[in-house]
Amino acid sequence: MKIVKISNKKPPQWILDAVNEKFGVEWKSSVIFTYGELITSYTGMMTEDLLAHEPHHTKQQKEFGGADKWWKEYLKNNQFRFEQELECYRKQYQWVKRNLKNRNEVFNCLMSYAHALSGKLYGEIISFNEALKQIKKINEENKNNTTSIRNATS
Ligand SMILES: [Zn+2]
Repeated sequence: MKIVKISNKKPPQWILDAVNEKFGVEWKSSVIFTYGELITSYTGMMTEDLLAHEPHHTKQQKEFGGADKWWKEYLKNNQFRFEQELECYRKQYQWVKRNLKNRNEVFNCLMSYAHALSGKLYGEIISFNEALKQIKKINEENKNNTTSIRNATS
């Protein structure tokens, strides 16, 4: 997967502090933060598939009434956080299905997204299998590309 250049400017400190306190994630662990138009990480880099994920948070924040308001809700409301992330992971998964030719690579992406969405970073709000099912959902509805888990593992 290609690496793309993003900002390495810190998002507001209160967000870093809250994310660190709640999820045990540090700025230097190179997690990507979206704050309005700012998409940033410690290294100033991210994998290309995140171009289908992070800018969607920008859009969500705009629609929700601003980045600060969105981040406050995101930090305190598990259901909200899950819904917002699920939308972005679905977009990201659709992107890899369209753009990566190698089925194993697509499958590995799906596994890592489900792992992330069910993991510590978002407060362990869903099981791995449920995350897997949810991320795939939209793709099962538009059957134009039929890579299923069964195909991908064989
Ligand atoms: Zn996200």
